[in-house]
Amino acid sequence: MGSDYYGLLGVERNVSKEELKKAYRKQAVKYHPDKNPGDKNAEEKFKEISQAYEVLSDDKKRAAYDQYGSAAFQPGGGASPGSGGVNFGNGFRNQYDVFREVFGDLGGLFGGAAEAGQTRTDYDLRGAVEISLGEAFTGTERTVRYRRRVPCKKCKGTGSADGSRPKACSACGGQGSVFFNRGFFQMSQTCQKCHGSGTMVTNPCGECDGTGATTVSHSVRVKIPAGVEDGTHLRSSGEGNGDPRNGRFGDLYIAVHVQEERNFQRQGAHLHSAVSAPFTILTLGGEIEVPTIDGSGILKIPAGTQSGTTFRLRGKGMPVVGRNQRGDHFIQAHVEVPEKLTKVQREKLETFAESMGQKSVKKVGFFHRIFQ
Ligand SMILES: [Zn+2]
Ligand SMILES: [Zn+2]
Repeated sequence: MGSDYYGLLGVERNVSKEELKKAYRKQAVKYHPDKNPGDKNAEEKFKEISQAYEVLSDDKKRAAYDQYGSAAFQPGGGASPGSGGVNFGNGFRNQYDVFREVFGDLGGLFGGAAEAGQTRTDYDLRGAVEISLGEAFTGTERTVRYRRRVPCKKCKGTGSADGSRPKACSACGGQGSVFFNRGFFQMSQTCQKCHGSGTMVTNPCGECDGTGATTVSHSVRVKIPAGVEDGTHLRSSGEGNGDPRNGRFGDLYIAVHVQEERNFQRQGAHLHSAVSAPFTILTLGGEIEVPTIDGSGILKIPAGTQSGTTFRLRGKGMPVVGRNQRGDHFIQAHVEVPEKLTKVQREKLETFAESMGQKSVKKVGFFHRIFQ
Protein backbone atom coordinates (compact mmCIF):
# COMPACT_ATOMS: atom_id res chain seq x y z
CA MET A 1 0.00 0.00 0.00
CA GLY A 2 1.19 3.49 -0.76
CA SER A 3 4.22 2.34 -2.75
CA ASP A 4 6.17 5.00 -4.62
CA TYR A 5 6.51 3.32 -7.99
CA TYR A 6 8.84 5.97 -9.40
CA GLY A 7 11.03 5.79 -6.31
CA LEU A 8 11.13 1.96 -6.45
CA LEU A 9 12.57 2.10 -9.95
CA GLY A 10 14.77 5.08 -9.11
CA VAL A 11 13.36 7.33 -11.82
CA GLU A 12 11.84 10.82 -12.05
CA ARG A 13 8.10 11.31 -12.51
CA ASN A 14 8.61 12.56 -16.06
CA VAL A 15 10.67 9.49 -17.06
CA SER A 16 10.40 8.36 -20.70
CA LYS A 17 9.26 4.85 -21.57
CA GLU A 18 12.75 3.92 -22.75
CA GLU A 19 14.39 5.12 -19.54
CA LEU A 20 11.73 3.33 -17.51
CA LYS A 21 12.44 0.04 -19.25
CA LYS A 22 16.19 0.45 -18.71
CA ALA A 23 15.65 1.17 -15.03
CA TYR A 24 13.44 -1.89 -14.66
CA ARG A 25 15.91 -4.15 -16.47
CA LYS A 26 18.68 -3.07 -14.14
CA GLN A 27 16.65 -3.58 -10.98
CA ALA A 28 15.00 -6.81 -12.15
CA VAL A 29 18.33 -8.50 -12.86
CA LYS A 30 19.62 -7.39 -9.48
CA TYR A 31 16.66 -8.67 -7.46
CA HIS A 32 15.60 -11.71 -9.49
CA PRO A 33 15.00 -14.63 -7.05
CA ASP A 34 17.30 -16.87 -9.06
CA LYS A 35 20.15 -14.48 -8.36
CA ASN A 36 19.20 -14.31 -4.69
CA PRO A 37 18.17 -17.83 -3.73
CA GLY A 38 16.24 -17.95 -0.47
CA ASP A 39 16.38 -14.18 0.03
CA LYS A 40 12.81 -13.19 0.91
CA ASN A 41 13.58 -9.47 0.80
CA ALA A 42 14.95 -9.70 -2.72
CA GLU A 43 11.91 -11.71 -3.77
CA GLU A 44 9.56 -9.10 -2.34
CA LYS A 45 11.55 -6.30 -3.96
CA PHE A 46 11.46 -8.12 -7.30
CA LYS A 47 7.70 -8.35 -7.02
CA GLU A 48 7.38 -4.67 -6.14
CA ILE A 49 9.56 -3.38 -8.97
CA SER A 50 7.79 -5.64 -11.47
CA GLN A 51 4.48 -4.30 -10.24
CA ALA A 52 5.77 -0.73 -10.46
CA TYR A 53 7.03 -1.32 -13.99
CA GLU A 54 3.82 -2.93 -15.10
CA VAL A 55 1.81 0.08 -13.99
CA LEU A 56 4.17 2.81 -15.20
CA SER A 57 4.82 1.18 -18.58
CA ASP A 58 1.10 1.24 -19.39
CA ASP A 59 -0.17 4.72 -20.32
CA LYS A 60 -3.65 4.16 -18.93
CA LYS A 61 -2.41 2.66 -15.68
CA ARG A 62 0.30 5.27 -15.32
CA ALA A 63 -2.27 8.05 -15.66
CA ALA A 64 -4.43 6.38 -13.03
CA TYR A 65 -1.44 5.95 -10.74
CA ASP A 66 -0.45 9.60 -11.12
CA GLN A 67 -3.99 10.50 -10.13
CA TYR A 68 -4.84 7.96 -7.41
CA GLY A 69 -1.56 6.42 -6.30
CA SER A 70 -0.80 2.73 -5.87
CA ALA A 71 -3.94 2.03 -3.80
CA ALA A 72 -5.73 1.88 -7.13
CA PHE A 73 -3.79 -1.25 -8.05
CA GLN A 74 -3.79 -3.40 -4.96
CA PRO A 75 -4.56 -6.94 -6.08
CA GLY A 76 -7.61 -8.42 -4.46
CA GLY A 77 -8.51 -4.99 -3.15
CA GLY A 78 -8.81 -2.10 -5.51
CA ALA A 79 -8.33 -4.10 -8.64
CA SER A 80 -11.08 -6.62 -8.12
CA PRO A 81 -14.36 -5.83 -9.80
CA GLY A 82 -16.89 -3.98 -7.77
CA SER A 83 -14.78 -3.43 -4.67
CA GLY A 84 -13.62 0.04 -5.56
CA GLY A 85 -10.43 1.41 -6.99
CA VAL A 86 -9.46 1.60 -10.61
CA ASN A 87 -10.42 -1.49 -12.45
CA PHE A 88 -8.35 -2.77 -15.32
CA GLY A 89 -10.17 -6.05 -15.68
CA ASN A 90 -7.21 -8.36 -15.31
CA GLY A 91 -5.90 -7.08 -12.02
CA PHE A 92 -2.19 -7.71 -11.68
CA ARG A 93 -0.01 -9.84 -13.80
CA ASN A 94 2.55 -12.06 -12.20
CA GLN A 95 6.00 -10.51 -11.75
CA TYR A 96 7.54 -13.31 -13.80
CA ASP A 97 5.24 -12.48 -16.71
CA VAL A 98 6.35 -8.87 -16.55
CA PHE A 99 9.96 -9.98 -16.42
CA ARG A 100 9.50 -12.35 -19.34
CA GLU A 101 7.87 -9.67 -21.42
CA VAL A 102 10.76 -7.26 -20.92
CA PHE A 103 13.53 -9.82 -21.30
CA GLY A 104 11.88 -12.04 -23.88
CA ASP A 105 12.25 -15.77 -23.57
CA LEU A 106 14.66 -16.34 -20.70
CA GLY A 107 16.64 -18.89 -22.64
CA GLY A 108 18.88 -19.72 -19.71
CA LEU A 109 19.57 -16.19 -18.54
CA PHE A 110 19.33 -17.47 -15.00
CA GLY A 111 19.54 -21.16 -15.57
CA GLY A 112 16.58 -22.40 -13.61
CA ALA A 113 14.52 -19.27 -14.10
CA ALA A 114 11.92 -21.05 -16.15
CA GLU A 115 10.95 -23.10 -13.10
CA ALA A 116 10.71 -20.06 -10.89
CA GLY A 117 8.62 -18.33 -13.53
CA GLN A 118 5.64 -20.62 -13.14
CA THR A 119 2.62 -18.45 -13.64
CA ARG A 120 -1.09 -18.74 -13.42
CA THR A 121 -3.00 -16.59 -15.81
CA ASP A 122 -6.48 -16.74 -17.30
CA TYR A 123 -4.93 -18.07 -20.48
CA ASP A 124 -3.23 -21.08 -18.93
CA LEU A 125 -4.71 -24.51 -19.48
CA ARG A 126 -4.43 -27.60 -17.33
CA GLY A 127 -4.39 -31.28 -18.14
CA ALA A 128 -3.13 -34.58 -16.81
CA VAL A 129 -1.46 -37.73 -18.09
CA GLU A 130 -0.98 -41.10 -16.44
CA ILE A 131 2.17 -43.15 -16.89
CA SER A 132 3.49 -46.42 -15.49
CA LEU A 133 6.37 -46.66 -13.05
CA GLY A 134 8.43 -48.18 -15.86
CA GLU A 135 7.76 -45.13 -18.03
CA ALA A 136 8.69 -42.87 -15.13
CA PHE A 137 11.96 -44.82 -14.98
CA THR A 138 12.87 -44.45 -18.65
CA GLY A 139 11.17 -41.15 -19.34
CA THR A 140 8.53 -41.01 -22.06
CA GLU A 141 6.51 -38.80 -24.35
CA ARG A 142 2.79 -38.26 -24.71
CA THR A 143 0.74 -36.45 -27.29
CA VAL A 144 -1.86 -34.37 -25.53
CA ARG A 145 -4.87 -33.33 -27.58
CA TYR A 146 -7.19 -30.61 -26.42
CA ARG A 147 -9.19 -27.62 -27.54
CA ARG A 148 -7.96 -24.11 -27.03
CA ARG A 149 -8.94 -20.57 -27.85
CA VAL A 150 -6.86 -18.77 -30.46
CA PRO A 151 -7.19 -15.26 -31.89
CA CYS A 152 -9.75 -15.34 -34.71
CA LYS A 153 -8.04 -15.47 -38.10
CA LYS A 154 -10.89 -13.79 -39.93
CA CYS A 155 -10.95 -10.61 -37.87
CA LYS A 156 -7.35 -10.88 -36.60
CA GLY A 157 -8.58 -10.95 -33.03
CA THR A 158 -10.40 -7.64 -33.22
CA GLY A 159 -13.89 -9.15 -33.07
CA SER A 160 -15.09 -6.74 -35.79
CA ALA A 161 -16.42 -8.01 -39.10
CA ASP A 162 -14.50 -5.35 -41.02
CA GLY A 163 -11.26 -6.08 -39.15
CA SER A 164 -11.10 -2.60 -37.61
CA ARG A 165 -9.90 -2.15 -34.06
CA PRO A 166 -12.82 -2.05 -31.66
CA LYS A 167 -13.94 1.38 -30.52
CA ALA A 168 -13.67 2.59 -26.96
CA CYS A 169 -16.78 1.79 -24.97
CA SER A 170 -19.14 4.76 -24.92
CA ALA A 171 -20.30 4.13 -21.36
CA CYS A 172 -16.86 4.12 -19.71
CA GLY A 173 -14.75 5.90 -22.31
CA GLY A 174 -12.54 2.80 -22.68
CA GLN A 175 -11.65 2.57 -18.99
CA GLY A 176 -13.55 -0.67 -18.45
CA SER A 177 -14.94 0.74 -15.25
CA VAL A 178 -17.22 3.54 -14.22
CA PHE A 179 -16.49 5.84 -11.31
CA PHE A 180 -18.77 7.09 -8.61
CA ASN A 181 -18.24 8.87 -5.31
CA ARG A 182 -18.75 7.17 -2.00
CA GLY A 183 -18.03 9.45 0.91
CA PHE A 184 -14.49 10.74 0.54
CA PHE A 185 -13.50 8.04 -1.87
CA GLN A 186 -13.90 7.73 -5.54
CA MET A 187 -14.92 4.16 -6.23
CA SER A 188 -15.28 2.27 -9.43
CA GLN A 189 -17.31 -0.58 -10.76
CA THR A 190 -16.86 -2.82 -13.77
CA CYS A 191 -18.60 -1.24 -16.72
CA GLN A 192 -21.86 -3.10 -17.38
CA LYS A 193 -21.89 -2.28 -21.06
CA CYS A 194 -18.45 -3.68 -22.04
CA HIS A 195 -17.96 -6.05 -19.06
CA GLY A 196 -14.65 -4.42 -18.22
CA SER A 197 -12.98 -4.77 -21.60
CA GLY A 198 -13.28 -1.04 -22.33
CA THR A 199 -14.10 -1.77 -25.94
CA MET A 200 -17.19 -2.11 -28.03
CA VAL A 201 -17.61 -4.11 -31.20
CA THR A 202 -20.27 -2.46 -33.38
CA ASN A 203 -20.15 -4.90 -36.29
CA PRO A 204 -19.29 -8.31 -34.77
CA CYS A 205 -17.26 -10.83 -36.76
CA GLY A 206 -19.41 -13.80 -37.81
CA GLU A 207 -16.61 -16.29 -37.21
CA CYS A 208 -16.03 -15.51 -33.52
CA ASP A 209 -19.30 -13.73 -32.61
CA GLY A 210 -17.30 -10.63 -31.83
CA THR A 211 -15.22 -12.27 -29.12
CA GLY A 212 -12.02 -12.12 -31.20
CA ALA A 213 -11.20 -15.76 -30.47
CA THR A 214 -12.18 -19.14 -31.89
CA THR A 215 -11.84 -22.65 -30.46
CA VAL A 216 -9.58 -25.05 -32.31
CA SER A 217 -8.23 -28.55 -31.79
CA HIS A 218 -4.62 -28.57 -30.81
CA SER A 219 -2.06 -31.18 -29.86
CA VAL A 220 1.25 -30.99 -28.09
CA ARG A 221 3.98 -33.56 -27.71
CA VAL A 222 4.92 -33.53 -24.03
CA LYS A 223 8.32 -34.86 -22.98
CA ILE A 224 8.18 -36.53 -19.60
CA PRO A 225 11.63 -36.74 -18.03
CA ALA A 226 13.10 -39.91 -16.57
CA GLY A 227 12.60 -39.98 -12.80
CA VAL A 228 9.45 -37.85 -12.86
CA GLU A 229 7.55 -38.05 -9.58
CA ASP A 230 3.82 -38.47 -9.16
CA GLY A 231 2.09 -35.10 -9.05
CA THR A 232 4.75 -33.22 -11.02
CA HIS A 233 3.43 -30.37 -13.17
CA LEU A 234 5.12 -29.91 -16.51
CA ARG A 235 4.76 -26.63 -18.35
CA SER A 236 4.52 -26.27 -22.09
CA SER A 237 5.15 -22.62 -22.70
CA GLY A 238 2.76 -20.87 -25.07
CA GLU A 239 0.45 -23.89 -25.53
CA GLY A 240 -2.46 -22.41 -23.59
CA ASN A 241 -5.23 -20.12 -24.81
CA GLY A 242 -4.43 -17.09 -26.93
CA ASP A 243 -5.28 -13.56 -25.87
CA PRO A 244 -6.87 -11.87 -28.90
CA ARG A 245 -5.93 -8.43 -27.60
CA ASN A 246 -2.17 -8.95 -27.79
CA GLY A 247 -1.71 -12.29 -29.57
CA ARG A 248 0.10 -13.81 -26.60
CA PHE A 249 -0.57 -17.35 -25.45
CA GLY A 250 -0.83 -18.77 -21.97
CA ASP A 251 0.92 -21.97 -20.93
CA LEU A 252 -0.24 -25.56 -20.71
CA TYR A 253 0.32 -27.33 -17.41
CA ILE A 254 0.31 -31.11 -17.44
CA ALA A 255 0.03 -32.97 -14.16
CA VAL A 256 1.84 -36.31 -14.32
CA HIS A 257 0.31 -39.21 -12.42
CA VAL A 258 2.61 -42.18 -11.94
CA GLN A 259 0.66 -45.41 -11.45
CA GLU A 260 1.45 -47.53 -8.42
CA GLU A 261 3.23 -50.80 -8.99
CA ARG A 262 2.49 -53.93 -7.00
CA ASN A 263 6.09 -55.12 -6.90
CA PHE A 264 7.87 -51.85 -6.22
CA GLN A 265 7.04 -49.22 -3.65
CA ARG A 266 8.54 -45.89 -4.50
CA GLN A 267 9.91 -43.39 -2.02
CA GLY A 268 11.36 -40.47 -3.96
CA ALA A 269 14.26 -41.92 -5.92
CA HIS A 270 14.38 -45.10 -3.80
CA LEU A 271 12.49 -48.29 -4.50
CA HIS A 272 11.41 -50.97 -2.05
CA SER A 273 10.48 -54.54 -2.77
CA ALA A 274 10.34 -57.92 -1.09
CA VAL A 275 11.66 -61.30 -2.15
CA SER A 276 11.38 -64.75 -0.66
CA ALA A 277 14.51 -66.87 -0.27
CA PRO A 278 14.77 -70.56 0.63
CA PHE A 279 15.58 -71.33 4.25
CA THR A 280 18.78 -73.06 3.11
CA ILE A 281 20.12 -70.00 1.27
CA LEU A 282 19.41 -67.73 4.22
CA THR A 283 21.15 -70.26 6.45
CA LEU A 284 24.05 -71.35 4.29
CA GLY A 285 24.48 -68.18 2.21
CA GLY A 286 24.19 -67.89 -1.57
CA GLU A 287 22.83 -65.76 -4.36
CA ILE A 288 19.29 -65.13 -5.55
CA GLU A 289 18.02 -63.35 -8.59
CA VAL A 290 15.71 -60.43 -7.82
CA PRO A 291 13.48 -58.38 -10.12
CA THR A 292 14.61 -54.75 -10.41
CA ILE A 293 13.04 -51.78 -12.20
CA ASP A 294 15.36 -52.25 -15.17
CA GLY A 295 15.36 -56.04 -15.31
CA SER A 296 16.96 -58.17 -12.63
CA GLY A 297 19.85 -58.16 -10.25
CA ILE A 298 21.76 -60.61 -8.11
CA LEU A 299 21.40 -60.42 -4.35
CA LYS A 300 24.29 -61.91 -2.39
CA ILE A 301 22.95 -63.46 0.81
CA PRO A 302 25.51 -64.04 3.55
CA ALA A 303 25.27 -67.20 5.66
CA GLY A 304 23.09 -66.81 8.76
CA THR A 305 20.76 -64.13 7.33
CA GLN A 306 17.58 -63.63 9.38
CA SER A 307 14.20 -63.49 7.66
CA GLY A 308 13.15 -59.85 7.21
CA THR A 309 16.68 -58.57 6.58
CA THR A 310 16.79 -55.65 4.14
CA PHE A 311 19.48 -55.46 1.48
CA ARG A 312 20.40 -52.43 -0.54
CA LEU A 313 21.25 -52.42 -4.22
CA ARG A 314 23.01 -49.10 -4.62
CA GLY A 315 22.16 -47.05 -7.68
CA LYS A 316 19.41 -49.48 -8.75
CA GLY A 317 16.50 -47.21 -7.82
CA MET A 318 14.77 -44.48 -9.86
CA PRO A 319 16.68 -41.78 -11.73
CA VAL A 320 16.74 -38.27 -10.33
CA VAL A 321 15.26 -35.78 -12.82
CA GLY A 322 17.92 -33.77 -14.58
CA ARG A 323 20.79 -35.55 -12.89
CA ASN A 324 22.92 -38.47 -13.86
CA GLN A 325 22.09 -40.20 -10.63
CA ARG A 326 19.86 -42.98 -9.35
CA GLY A 327 18.42 -43.82 -5.99
CA ASP A 328 18.82 -47.22 -4.32
CA HIS A 329 16.70 -50.35 -4.37
CA PHE A 330 15.95 -51.83 -0.95
CA ILE A 331 14.98 -55.48 -0.89
CA GLN A 332 13.62 -57.27 2.11
CA ALA A 333 14.31 -61.01 2.12
CA HIS A 334 11.73 -63.33 3.68
CA VAL A 335 12.10 -67.00 4.35
CA GLU A 336 10.29 -69.23 1.94
CA VAL A 337 8.74 -72.22 3.69
CA PRO A 338 8.26 -75.34 1.55
CA GLU A 339 4.65 -76.49 1.72
CA LYS A 340 5.24 -80.07 0.64
CA LEU A 341 8.15 -82.36 1.52
CA THR A 342 9.08 -85.77 0.22
CA LYS A 343 9.57 -88.54 2.75
CA VAL A 344 13.35 -88.28 2.37
CA GLN A 345 13.36 -84.53 2.78
CA ARG A 346 11.18 -84.83 5.85
CA GLU A 347 13.48 -87.38 7.45
CA LYS A 348 16.52 -85.23 6.74
CA LEU A 349 14.89 -82.17 8.26
CA GLU A 350 13.87 -84.20 11.31
CA THR A 351 17.44 -85.40 11.66
CA PHE A 352 18.54 -81.80 11.38
CA ALA A 353 16.03 -80.71 14.00
CA GLU A 354 17.21 -83.43 16.34
CA SER A 355 20.80 -82.33 15.87
CA MET A 356 19.69 -78.87 16.89
CA GLY A 357 18.12 -80.29 20.05
CA GLN A 358 14.56 -79.73 18.79
CA LYS A 359 13.32 -83.30 19.39
CA SER A 360 9.98 -82.28 20.89
CA VAL A 361 8.73 -80.65 17.69
CA LYS A 362 8.68 -84.00 15.95
CA LYS A 363 5.24 -84.93 17.16
CA VAL A 364 3.46 -81.65 16.45
CA GLY A 365 4.90 -80.88 13.01
CA PHE A 366 8.02 -78.84 12.61
CA PHE A 367 7.00 -76.05 10.25
CA HIS A 368 3.51 -75.49 11.54
CA ARG A 369 4.60 -74.81 15.11
CA ILE A 370 7.80 -72.93 14.58
CA PHE A 371 6.80 -70.54 11.77
CA GLN A 372 3.17 -69.74 12.48
ZN1 LIG B 1 -17.43 0.13 -20.87
ZN1 LIG C 1 -13.50 -12.97 -35.60
